[in-house]
Amino acid sequence: MRRNYIGGKWIEGSSAGENINPSDTRDVIGLYARASQAQALDAIGAAHAALPKWAAATPQQRADVLDAVGSEVAARKAELADLLAREEGKALADATGEVTRAAQIFKFFAGEALRIPGELLASTRPGMSVEITREPVGVVSIITPWNFPIAIPAWKIAPALAYGNTVVFKPAELVPGSAWALAEILSRAGLPAGTFNLVMGRGRDIGDTLLQDPRVAAVTFTGSEATGRKVAATCVTRRGAMAKFQLEMGGKNPLVVLDDADLDVAVSCAVNGAYFGTGQRCTASSRLVVSAGIHDRFVAAMVDRLATLKVGDARNPGTVIGPVVDAQQLRQDLDYIAIGREEGATLAFGGQALQSVDGQPGHYLQPALFTGTSNAMRINREEIFGPVASVIRVRDADEALAVANDTEFGLSAGVCTTSLRMAAHFKRELQAGMVMVNAPTAGVDAHVPFGGRKGSSYGPREQGRHAAEFYTSVKTTYLQP
Ligand code: NAD
Repeated sequence: MRRNYIGGKWIEGSSAGENINPSDTRDVIGLYARASQAQALDAIGAAHAALPKWAAATPQQRADVLDAVGSEVAARKAELADLLAREEGKALADATGEVTRAAQIFKFFAGEALRIPGELLASTRPGMSVEITREPVGVVSIITPWNFPIAIPAWKIAPALAYGNTVVFKPAELVPGSAWALAEILSRAGLPAGTFNLVMGRGRDIGDTLLQDPRVAAVTFTGSEATGRKVAATCVTRRGAMAKFQLEMGGKNPLVVLDDADLDVAVSCAVNGAYFGTGQRCTASSRLVVSAGIHDRFVAAMVDRLATLKVGDARNPGTVIGPVVDAQQLRQDLDYIAIGREEGATLAFGGQALQSVDGQPGHYLQPALFTGTSNAMRINREEIFGPVASVIRVRDADEALAVANDTEFGLSAGVCTTSLRMAAHFKRELQAGMVMVNAPTAGVDAHVPFGGRKGSSYGPREQGRHAAEFYTSVKTTYLQP
């Protein structure tokens, strides 16, 4: 049994959950402890007690810890990618990319720990100077989803520690394996006891505890919009001071394909953006907004390409699309496929569940492509979070832009065009936190800001040096000598 890590000790859970391989549901990866509410409170207490020491640690101490974690994650890339693919169902190549990114994030924030900026300004008052410094926020609760089992924890834990905060980390219940492996690495990296704590378990059991406790100064959450709203409400209405909070939630990301697009580029962007990672990415290109002049050629090429993608065991090197993460998510995907048909969309490819692949029982689903859809359909308004994409045919670039922006979400948006003028126009006008020109809407660099607008995100950006906005508290000091 893999245990929780609280106050520098490995602690038995109050119960345990099985971690099951979605590529072969007979394969139980292991038993993982589930923390009780009392244990979650212990973790908060430990993080609170450890705060003064870690906040006072030198930048070099923090940098050394983060650098060591990044080095070990990188050195164990193959093993960690195998575990990630096994527990989440992400194809091995993508899983390897994710682990690499996690290592890079720790290295990046090792550097940032040594570069915490400040400002010194002249005051409007004679002789006075004004100093602007950044201090740790305090204890940070970190709550993560299942679809990036190591990268999302990395991009929250690394900056939290770099800027001198202490951490209580609750990973998604479906993927405790990668989280536990990362916690085990952190437990040997030289952190004072209590600085980093792992509490595995279900959101409905311990999530609220991690938000309500007044010793928690800040909450960083990535997950669904519905849970995000609850997190926000609790952070604002809890007893005592409100918690600072940051939310990264869903997407309904458009990829616009204009008449002048390079067809091969457009199809590659759409296939990668919509289906890689089994479409289980907040940045997935779930709406393909295609102008009339290229529409038929685009759809024909998409169907041809989709027929070549191997669906199978995530750890099989030939697999491009692994299984859906679990039975519940598969049901949700199939429900939306049924809804799309009822709404009058045409299923141009795929959409069938496969009970088994190569004799293995798993949650397999053929990638689905809808055509003949309108942007008003539920399949184009609600996040499905599976390998399901819709083509929305539009007259021209003006309609494409209007449709692309007609959504509650605003995480990522893309355009495929060979026109510099159109690229500049869409870059300016797309209402999203991230804009991709001739690139998939998913797949981002680790050293630059990540996040969205509208219903996709709330609060400061994650990653890159912009992460400091959330993980530090600004102090303005007036000094009259
Ligand atoms: P989810 O909202 O079900 O769960 C996310 C986390 O919240 C889990 O750790 C869960 O245990 C916890 N949780 C559940 N109820 C809680 C509560 N009442 N209080 C506190 N915590 C609670 O999301 P999921 O199904 O794990 O992930 C899929 C979602 O995540 C999708 O909507 C996807 O778009 C989103 N996502 C967004 C981004 C982004 O950066 N915008 C990145 C990845 C995933």
